[in-house]
Amino acid sequence: MRRVTTIAQVRDAVATARAGGATVALVPTMGALHVGHLALVEEASRRADLVVVSIFVNPAQFDRADDLDGYPRDLDGDEAALASLGDAAPDLVFAPEVAEVYPRPRVTTVTVTGLTDRLCGASRPGHFDGVATVCTKLFSIVQPDLAVFGRKDFQQLQIVRRVVADLDLPVRIVGAPTFREDDGLAMSSRNRRLDATERRAAVALSRALRAGVELARADGGPPDPVRVHDEVAGRLSGAPGVTVDYVEVLDPETLDAPAPPTEPPPSDATRGQGATGTSGAAETGARLLVAVAAHVGPVRLIDNVVIGDVDDEDRLLAATR
Ligand code: AMP
Repeated sequence: MRRVTTIAQVRDAVATARAGGATVALVPTMGALHVGHLALVEEASRRADLVVVSIFVNPAQFDRADDLDGYPRDLDGDEAALASLGDAAPDLVFAPEVAEVYPRPRVTTVTVTGLTDRLCGASRPGHFDGVATVCTKLFSIVQPDLAVFGRKDFQQLQIVRRVVADLDLPVRIVGAPTFREDDGLAMSSRNRRLDATERRAAVALSRALRAGVELARADGGPPDPVRVHDEVAGRLSGAPGVTVDYVEVLDPETLDAPAPPTEPPPSDATRGQGATGTSGAAETGARLLVAVAAHVGPVRLIDNVVIGDVDDEDRLLAATR
């Protein structure tokens, strides 16, 4: 594992590996690495010969100076965590300074419309322009065959997929499952900033999502987005120490409002007769993204589940209480 800080160094190392026939994977991160990040690196190392992890707190995607300033940074700790992966440790850690990535005032921005209007885009103006721009730059710098992103940042994943498709970028985007703490809280670098009381309160996000999945499973048939929304929103808004930013139930591909269910919502008489192993959504092929964001103490947390994606539902149920 080697740390490089310049674009020239990373390009040189990748070119040398490629000349020897190696395939290349990139895992973009902002550091303060946790087990969820490490799982992305393991996924990358299963899929490619040379793995590059970028660690760059990208100022262009922060809409608030205090959030940028307070973002945890721990490059030495990150390198130790990556080294602990042994055979799956990355070959290169690309940790550039801001001036290396943005050496001059930037007049070129990658802007994605539509997909960025909702969810985190609505409450973090300019955030996804910064994400789309830095990802495009990283793809251009590293020129990987594939890049691994977490499904925890579901909107980001869909936006990056769309940038790659629209700009014909020669990189395959891989989405990896959300890793959770023992009580179900989605792992996040921001969790480090929670005190003990806030940390206990933060579990409300995954618990609310769980309630949405359980409702869809109990209902059976195509899930009713309104019922799912009200269940999740009701749970989250009543949770102590939690200030809800949004609860949204959307089409996972377009991030638009979902099509109404093809069958009427279950009556009280039929409710609860759905299959127990999966939600009705899984049986009908209907999929609903349930995405939540909330402030807990100083931190804004996000989480999501795709109802109708059996693996995603099962992982959430297994990881939450
Ligand atoms: P970040 O450093 O927070 O920008 O995240 C870097 C990458 O790690 C992104 O693709 C995130 O979606 C992913 N990631 C962050 N947290 C998790 C998690 N709990 N499980 C899986 N992937 C994650």
